[in-house]
Amino acid sequence: MLLIDLKPALSEEQLDARILRDFESLHGKTFADSLRRLLPMALVEPVSEIAGVPLQKRVDEINKKNRKDLVKTLKCVALHIKSFRPIDEAIITRGGVKVKEISPKSMESRLCKGLFFVGELIDVDGYTGGFNLQTAFSTGVLGGVSAAALVKGI
Ligand SMILES: Cc1cc2nc3c(=O)[nH]c(=O)nc-3n(C[C@H](O)[C@H](O)[C@H](O)COP(=O)(O)OP(=O)(O)OC[C@H]3O[C@@H](n4cnc5c(N)ncnc54)[C@H](O)[C@@H]3O)c2cc1C
Repeated sequence: MLLIDLKPALSEEQLDARILRDFESLHGKTFADSLRRLLPMALVEPVSEIAGVPLQKRVDEINKKNRKDLVKTLKCVALHIKSFRPIDEAIITRGGVKVKEISPKSMESRLCKGLFFVGELIDVDGYTGGFNLQTAFSTGVLGGVSAAALVKGI
């Protein structure tokens, strides 16, 4: 189970005070209007559902218990993990040849001369967004140039 704090910068008391201020300034408006101030759009409906406070309820009608439930939800959303995503959606392999066993100047193995490791073969992984491609490109060029230099005896 994952427990996610959607408002890590605020304590429960600070968050409650913030919500109260929002409610006061949104007099006559709905709970949905106040949540839109607090959360990204995609989270408005799920948070209302988990907190058990209907989106169409007017902020003036929201009682202390509703507010407490909302604060609890925002500070600790519980997600139950059913399973992993399928392997064909995987993006990067974790593990590989230890970086300590590779020379960063050439990508040549420190244990076996003439053997080069680059890209996914190395025990390096990053978030998606270009880090892994950059690793593959940079180590690939270095390893390739180094291997060619070895063959040519440069
Ligand atoms: C769906 C998907 C999305 C991704 N999105 C991102 C992203 O957004 N950002 C990011 O940074 N990274 C992303 N990655 C990861 C990134 O693409 C890889 O980390 C990177 O391409 C690894 O490069 P590589 O050269 O080490 O290995 P590969 O790209 O896997 O290249 C290995 C090559 O070796 C060949 N090969 C295998 N065995 C043999 C053999 N016996 N003889 C000859 N050739 C062989 C394979 O056919 C392949 O062409 C993504 C990966 C996937 C699968």
